[in-house]
Amino acid sequence: MKSIAVIGAGITGLTTSFLLKNKNLPVDLYEASERPGGVIYSKRQDGYLAEFGPNTLLNTNKKLEYLFKISGLSEHIKFAEHKSDKRFLVRNGKVIAMPSKAISFFLSPLFSWKAKYNLMLEPFRPRWKNAYEESVAQFVRRRFGNEFLTYAIDALVAGIFAGNPERLSVIHGFPKLYKAEQEYGSMIRAQFFGAKARKKRGETSKQEARILSFDEGLQVMPDTLAKNLGKNFHSNCLVTTITQIPSGWRISYRQGDELKQQDHSAVLLSTSAYAASQIDLQCTSSLNLGLFSKISYAPVSSVVLGYKRKDVGHPLDGFGMLLPGIEKFNILGTLFSSTLFSNRAPQGCVTLSSYVGGMRQPELAGLPQEKLFKMVHFDLAKLLNIRGEPVFQISNYYPRAIPQYNVGYGQFKDHVLQLQKDCPGFYIGGNYTRGPALSDNILSGFEFADNIENYLKTVAPFEV
Ligand SMILES: Cc1cc2nc3c(=O)[nH]c(=O)nc-3n(C[C@H](O)[C@H](O)[C@H](O)COP(=O)(O)OP(=O)(O)OC[C@H]3O[C@@H](n4cnc5c(N)ncnc54)[C@H](O)[C@@H]3O)c2cc1C
Repeated sequence: MKSIAVIGAGITGLTTSFLLKNKNLPVDLYEASERPGGVIYSKRQDGYLAEFGPNTLLNTNKKLEYLFKISGLSEHIKFAEHKSDKRFLVRNGKVIAMPSKAISFFLSPLFSWKAKYNLMLEPFRPRWKNAYEESVAQFVRRRFGNEFLTYAIDALVAGIFAGNPERLSVIHGFPKLYKAEQEYGSMIRAQFFGAKARKKRGETSKQEARILSFDEGLQVMPDTLAKNLGKNFHSNCLVTTITQIPSGWRISYRQGDELKQQDHSAVLLSTSAYAASQIDLQCTSSLNLGLFSKISYAPVSSVVLGYKRKDVGHPLDGFGMLLPGIEKFNILGTLFSSTLFSNRAPQGCVTLSSYVGGMRQPELAGLPQEKLFKMVHFDLAKLLNIRGEPVFQISNYYPRAIPQYNVGYGQFKDHVLQLQKDCPGFYIGGNYTRGPALSDNILSGFEFADNIENYLKTVAPFEV
């Protein structure tokens, strides 16, 4: 019997395991903690539904719908309310709606006339032809000018990576942007002409993709996928060693006080980079997993505050607001969670989910809870014209929240590829290999399941 070990029940490991089981292949999913989902973590308390990790999933590909359908998740989907389409950016301490159409961009007070003129010139600027790797900041300055970087991209990068645009690599962190410039010579041209190519690939652009979650938050997704695995989902199992053996791979793990082993034909390692670097890999390759400890991670605290609706002056008529670093606030951004999804707060109350720390102010992320609550309330009260104190507060600290695809990241990508080449039947996935978005990692699950299925056809069966 050929079986597969998947290590780490984040969304990558769960999707891959579920799809393998769906192909009638025996799979065991080992998870160090007691709960599936990794950084996905929804908690219902006192009538509020708090999301500590990801809040939303972008439906960018038909494969996601397929997964939802075959796993039974479809009936739990909650699409974001249309009134949350608007997004806000803070400039000069004011919360201003971001322009969604070309015409509104030119009328918006968010950018100066110089920035608008710079944007109009973008299609006429030459492609990047130099050999060295550009940071996101260099790329944006070159194509759009400094103001666009300071006010729009700095905030956007904080929203996606909790990262620093001066350090993030454009080719690795935003490969589609890099490709757009190489293929179309301009971002604006790519926006117009790339639509046809996307349609052919079954993809929806991020701007058009529907935003969704589930009735009891994103946690429903890992819970449902893990439930489908039944007894093949093994919680509280910390994998310590992966050893190549003649018949495949031996997994050594700690479950409580017990040390256990299990043999498999193939392995997918889908933990975080740091957790992977702690695992002893014994195989024919001269490489090991230690290098992954060098991938830097942004620390983040998620702070969810509830207020009485009548105490909040702002209409909260949108998705949320992003804060550029130059504005000198403590929060990176805030989601208007109860506008996005209606069941996030009790009647007459609202939920605001804010993120603190990141590469911008890493020292803030680990502050004691009470300090965080005060700090976030102080910023929100100023920005959203809040008069009363929070009536609900809860937070969660992620010391390593999001991996940074910084300039030089290519060495890690090469390392993954070389290890997989040296060790047939050994695969490496997770958000430090395929991008941070949930959708990227779900799609990678499809790829891993297909690749592993094909690999198993090439090896002799053995009893486990
Ligand atoms: C605060 C925050 C907000 C975010 N917001 C969004 C958002 O709104 N939208 C979006 O698309 N994405 C968002 N993301 C990103 C996205 O949630 C993650 O990139 C994605 O969920 C990571 O999935 P993963 O498969 O890499 O695994 P992870 O979630 O990293 O899980 C890895 C699992 O491996 C387990 N593990 C570790 N070591 C071992 C071991 N030795 N043995 C067994 N198991 C082990 C861990 O316990 C964990 O469960 C956010 C992330 C964070 C932190």
